[in-house]
Amino acid sequence: MSRKIRNSQKEVDSYPSSGRGFVHVCPHCGRSMELCDTRDGDQAYFCHVCQKGHRAGSPPLLAFRPEEAS
Ligand SMILES: [Zn+2]
Repeated sequence: MSRKIRNSQKEVDSYPSSGRGFVHVCPHCGRSMELCDTRDGDQAYFCHVCQKGHRAGSPPLLAFRPEEAS
């Protein structure tokens, strides 16, 4: 078996999940985003204020904000 099977990035947990030192926020307004299911079975974060969102598998870096220790 010489062929490498490329799995979709859904299987790879390369981004920190929310609640582990990072909060997932909207890169536009800074509010927390809602995790929704997309029509193709993926998951995406959506900001209802901006009416914008991005896939959970490819979030922009600005969507991660270090959790502030208060
Ligand atoms: Zn927003």
